[in-house]
Amino acid sequence: MNTNNNCPEKITYGWDNFSKILTFIGCIFCLLTAYEAFLGLLMISYAFWRSRSKNVMKRTREERSLLKFLNDAFRVIYNIRHGRISLKNLRLKNRKRYKKCPRCGNLILLKTTTKNNVLSCPKCSLKFKAK
Ligand SMILES: [Zn+2]
Repeated sequence: MNTNNNCPEKITYGWDNFSKILTFIGCIFCLLTAYEAFLGLLMISYAFWRSRSKNVMKRTREERSLLKFLNDAFRVIYNIRHGRISLKNLRLKNRKRYKKCPRCGNLILLKTTTKNNVLSCPKCSLKFKAK
């Protein structure tokens, strides 16, 4: 017993949601392959270290950022499920735009700097206007 310490009993941080989630995921990892079991043990030992930690401020900040991250992740999933964010629209936005050649049907990538908006087909060398 450390009698010199005049702080009340609770000096370590203890178990929070972050540590519990870490231990839970670590246990699942332990059931998998050897490499993942090693990662799982690391996670569990980190969770134990956190619970024994005396830097309460830092641990609280860690937990808060985890909860914020989870909250954001769940919000995105919720929005996708309720059709507020459509995966189709996201994909369309990222897709490069192509123009079909009117003669041979070859797809030509639309470049943003086309001279007079004229495209030339590499297959049949037809020049046509891109809208
Ligand atoms: Zn063509």
